[in-house]
Amino acid sequence: MSDEDIGFNKDFALKPGVVEEIVPGLRRILCNNPGPFSFTGTVCYIVGKGKVAVIDPGPDDASHAKAILDAVRGETVTHVFVTHTHMDHSPNTPRITQATGAKVYADGNPLISRFVVEGEKRTSEAGGDTSFVADVKLADGQVVEGDGWSMQAVATPGHASNHMAFAWREKKILFSGDHVMGWSTSIVSPPDGSMIDYMASLEKLLLRDEDLYFCGHGPQIPEAKRYVRFLQRHRKAREESIVHRLAKGPADIPTIVRASYIGIDPRLVQAAGRSVFAHLEDLVARKLVATDGEPSIDGTYRLV
Ligand SMILES: [Zn+2]
Repeated sequence: MSDEDIGFNKDFALKPGVVEEIVPGLRRILCNNPGPFSFTGTVCYIVGKGKVAVIDPGPDDASHAKAILDAVRGETVTHVFVTHTHMDHSPNTPRITQATGAKVYADGNPLISRFVVEGEKRTSEAGGDTSFVADVKLADGQVVEGDGWSMQAVATPGHASNHMAFAWREKKILFSGDHVMGWSTSIVSPPDGSMIDYMASLEKLLLRDEDLYFCGHGPQIPEAKRYVRFLQRHRKAREESIVHRLAKGPADIPTIVRASYIGIDPRLVQAAGRSVFAHLEDLVARKLVATDGEPSIDGTYRLV
């Protein structure tokens, strides 16, 4: 296959609450929180056997917490890793730690406080979990040793400013959270989300040796680095379509969305606007596009 053949993969049969061992020593459980941003729901991972780590306990959902705890009955949860503090990933953390005594490992910084644009609904993906507390705040590159596994924190801001991926070093597997997902692109929504950071975080993964990713939503990604290059091309193509529209004259974000996203799911128009905003913020920072004052969601943009 050439690089051109790769694309999004929505083939994911896992049912909520079912514990699936995907590779030896790695189990996953789907939360029942499907939606336009979360696909079939948030995926929780259990790493190891006997003394285990849980990655992303998920949204505030007692039945999902019970499914996770049932899956590890007779075992000890020593670590909980959290990729980022969006509402579909971290709020269930206290249910797991209170039941198990596990410590929480994450970036630990709050999201950059986020304005709500008029008419914008706070989605589970957009809202932040302000009650989240990490017991151990991880630095980029820091390694956490468990029983038979070791996990390296890989700071990957962009989708969320406090996003971390986790590299399972013995298996050369990356838990990529919502930074890289096989079923879709990631939402990059300023001010907490940043296209500049997101693109740098994609590039960063290409320098690593993991080539199998397990994601916050949807199926795993084999040949992951090839997929990351596909995502880079996908964003570049989006950027080019924005520049192409601005070459015809100044435009606001709704105008650019109409020109650039043909046939978009109406539920995603708002998110598309924020994604275009993220691109424009990046283009303004690179002095390719100008606007009056600071880049804003309701600004008008023109080519420099
Ligand atoms: Zn998510």
